[in-house]
Amino acid sequence: MSKDIVILGAGISGISASYHLKEKNISSVIFEKNSSWGGLLDNFKINGFRFDRFVHLSFATDEHVKEIFTKSSDYHTHVPDPFNYYSGYWIKHPAQNNLYPLPEEKKKRIIDDFKRREKKEISEIKNYEEWLRVQFGDYFSENFPMPYTRKYWTLEARDMETKWIGKRMYRPTLEEVKKGCETAETPVTYYAKEMRYPKKGGYKSFLTSMVGGLNIRLNKKVIKINLEKHKIYFSDGTQCKYKKLISSLPLPEICKLIENTPEEVSSASEKLLCTSGYLVSLGFNRPDIAKNLWFYIYDEDILSARVYSPSLKSSDNAPEGCSSLQAEIYFSKYKRISLSEEEILQHTIDKLIKMKVFEEKDLVVKSIKKEDYANVVFDHRIYENRKIVLDFLKKMGIISVGRFGEWKYLWSDQSLISGQMGADKLIKEMSK
Ligand SMILES: Cc1cc2nc3c(=O)[nH]c(=O)nc-3n(C[C@H](O)[C@H](O)[C@H](O)COP(=O)(O)OP(=O)(O)OC[C@H]3O[C@@H](n4cnc5c(N)ncnc54)[C@H](O)[C@@H]3O)c2cc1C
Repeated sequence: MSKDIVILGAGISGISASYHLKEKNISSVIFEKNSSWGGLLDNFKINGFRFDRFVHLSFATDEHVKEIFTKSSDYHTHVPDPFNYYSGYWIKHPAQNNLYPLPEEKKKRIIDDFKRREKKEISEIKNYEEWLRVQFGDYFSENFPMPYTRKYWTLEARDMETKWIGKRMYRPTLEEVKKGCETAETPVTYYAKEMRYPKKGGYKSFLTSMVGGLNIRLNKKVIKINLEKHKIYFSDGTQCKYKKLISSLPLPEICKLIENTPEEVSSASEKLLCTSGYLVSLGFNRPDIAKNLWFYIYDEDILSARVYSPSLKSSDNAPEGCSSLQAEIYFSKYKRISLSEEEILQHTIDKLIKMKVFEEKDLVVKSIKKEDYANVVFDHRIYENRKIVLDFLKKMGIISVGRFGEWKYLWSDQSLISGQMGADKLIKEMSK
């Protein structure tokens, strides 16, 4: 088999690359190891309950992406209403300027430390812990984002750099912190004002207008790539020759697949850190279990970092009269979880019952699944290691796209654009 343009991976970035090539009348073939397309945006169904692979809602602002999503599916628009769970208190998000439910002495310590925080230029800040202390003061940092960093990013905050933060964390003024301590009536300060989700078919329905007419070959797991012969080998024993290659495979994976990857590149790719995650999916035989689209959990004795509700995203995600939740638990080589999957599932159920999120009698579906690639982690060496790998792939003529192909904190809309930019690069190369 010989194919001129080959794309590896049928997640949103690979699909977008193929779609944008097709828009220019250039055909390509996508090889995907799974039995369905969508990658991280795909979903699975259990007894009529649909669960996305991780929480997904769209807050795309790019007009081109919005047009593609709108053409693909009718959608619900949600105003984000996330909450935080901290030591038995339910606190509106972001916690830093919504501390009203906390006891007075804790609020006082947070405000005192907020006033005392060190004044430093962003350029002088060496790590995420320092950034947190400078933004929020010691007490808040030590009780909220620092434990959460261990749960979500699986590292100590001092082991992370800060360029990824951008607008992701709200930086309130002292007045806003004080106001949030005095009253529950505070304005919404979450960074996205609205979030969109398809009415039917889960998040991946936003991709359907791109997928029509593409040549996607499923169940084709790449097991080896020979760059000299321009050949790709699959686990089913077949091979394929290519002229041009776009890959959305995670950088550490593609480096393992390429024959004779130089030692320096392999070593850099192995040092790229990401989190993996367990998804605990729960279905209930009543409609009113979930109160908010999602909530964060700060307590470290509870493994889940975040819980969200697929049935609130769209009622199409649960049978009539039912509702659902999905909890995310993160781990990495720096934070291993010594429990079995069955134990993690039971732990999560027990903790959520203790938190009074639901009662055992209402639970009708429970499942646990593992995802190897969740979040790219911004440790201090990320940029130099990533550059070594990307420079090598570029030299070898491979265009690397997507969240794990660029090794960046990309939302789905940004991964779509990454695939589009990959297609543009390839068109430019072909016209030389
Ligand atoms: C916890 C979490 C929450 C998120 N929440 C949001 C959100 O709310 N909103 C939002 O917009 N974005 C969100 N994102 C980001 C979004 O999921 C990504 O930007 C997007 O899905 C990445 O798409 P991709 O195509 O780059 O990668 P992927 O979807 O990972 O696609 C890569 C594809 O390559 C395939 N593949 C891998 N190895 C091989 C092989 N050897 N052979 C063949 N195929 C292979 C995989 O099966 C996969 O289909 C979230 C991500 C995470 C982890």
